[in-house]
Amino acid sequence: MLSNRHRTASNARRARTRPPAPRRATVHADTVSGVRPPAITTTQLHPLTDREQNQRLYAYEQRVRSAFDAIVPTLKRVEAIQQKDGFEPMAQAIVQQSLGFELPNETLAEAMAGGFDMRKLFAWAMFETYQRFSDDFFSGNNLIDDQTFQSFLIDCGFHTMDVSPCADGRLAHVISYVLRLPYREVRRKSYAGAMFDIENSVEKWTETEFLRFREGRPNHADEATRYLKTVVYHFSSSDPDHQGCAAHGSDTNKAAQAGLDRLHAFQQAVENTFCCGASIDLLLIGLDTDTDTIRVHVSAEDGTIDLRNYIDSSYVYLETMNMNAAQAASVLEARVRDHSEGATEGMIKLVSRLITNNLSQLDYVNEFNNRRYADIGHAERFIGAGIGFEEIQLRNLTYFAYMNTVEEATADLDVGVKIFTGLNVTHGLPIPVVIRFDYHGHVPGARDRAEANCKRVADALRARYSELAQDGLLHTLLAIRDCAAGETIEVLESSVFAKSIAGAH
Ligand SMILES: [Zn+2]
Repeated sequence: MLSNRHRTASNARRARTRPPAPRRATVHADTVSGVRPPAITTTQLHPLTDREQNQRLYAYEQRVRSAFDAIVPTLKRVEAIQQKDGFEPMAQAIVQQSLGFELPNETLAEAMAGGFDMRKLFAWAMFETYQRFSDDFFSGNNLIDDQTFQSFLIDCGFHTMDVSPCADGRLAHVISYVLRLPYREVRRKSYAGAMFDIENSVEKWTETEFLRFREGRPNHADEATRYLKTVVYHFSSSDPDHQGCAAHGSDTNKAAQAGLDRLHAFQQAVENTFCCGASIDLLLIGLDTDTDTIRVHVSAEDGTIDLRNYIDSSYVYLETMNMNAAQAASVLEARVRDHSEGATEGMIKLVSRLITNNLSQLDYVNEFNNRRYADIGHAERFIGAGIGFEEIQLRNLTYFAYMNTVEEATADLDVGVKIFTGLNVTHGLPIPVVIRFDYHGHVPGARDRAEANCKRVADALRARYSELAQDGLLHTLLAIRDCAAGETIEVLESSVFAKSIAGAH
């Protein structure tokens, strides 16, 4: 990892190299997969990039990733000294220094007796690291501190922005990083292939409208704003046939079309269920998971979206990179307008803001990931199963399987276990699964139901993957969280050392 000083110096050096000539931002592709976005080859920052925010987000990402990545090397160092005199204090000193916590004493006693259990210790350290990272997040981490967003959204004509990305771990950072939106102000619910649940969305829509009517939150029901439903599908510009969306056979056209069909079905559901002109607004976004470039298909006022017409942030970047900030902002808005036939002024304003925000992310990937992520495929650290996980705002950290029961997410889980068999099991390491259910503490009995859900899913997981579980290659951490109170997670138990986990917190 480079220090800030080194990075600044190398940026200054790189900034002196001449950037390539800008290209126009207009694109009219025949199909959504027909055009590969242009490579951004400059290393000077775009005039609209928020440099300070990029530094802060990078520091956060590095802190979290390095905590997870330090686990295996640290445990290997401990394993290497297990026969030495003074093993226990030496081992604890190493672990404390590298990971920031100590190992349970009984595991070290086992190691001294010749039973160093890498699988158990790895799972234990993963869960401990996860809990620390989660606690840190809920204790006040504001990745994007944008207090004006809610009022901006209302000014644009929307009282709620509800985003359904694909559950793929490579989209987990879409709110805080790719779109740079404050996670508390945006509803995020991920689904395999971004195929969101229509009934659940209608329920959320109803709840939202009811709150406006009863409590005037976030604004009064008589204000002419609408609910904005957004789908984020994804593709890979480096390896479109293999690293795109698994749920749609890595076919970008299919992923985009399926997202659009689902949006229209939701709109239809609201219109048919509630009369009096009830409707919602729609937005479809495609994400290149190799570069974090977005393509926005802007909807017309009546909800029409043309899949062949989109604005691609990398084209806008290249066209505006040598302008001053004011010129760049004005050209950017003009380009959005070029692609927004029939859209409201509010929609144009919102999409302009999303594209502007994404320019910072393009520079983020350029600067810190050498223009294109090295891990274009899966490299998640653990599986997250259940409902919740608001704290996961980083790319490729978690494979999500959202569910109430194992049965409803069997396909997602099987894919997850297959991915982790390649990532962990083939290296002799277990698959860490965090089972988590968030609940609303003010609802009577909600906590008990969340706890029961956790246990039921844990049992079903162990039954489904019994061989892995018996071999110590599948470990679970059970946790719940009162999301209404905004609290940190509460760990119920772990399959590793139940007593140690419960005793440690
Ligand atoms: Zn996907």
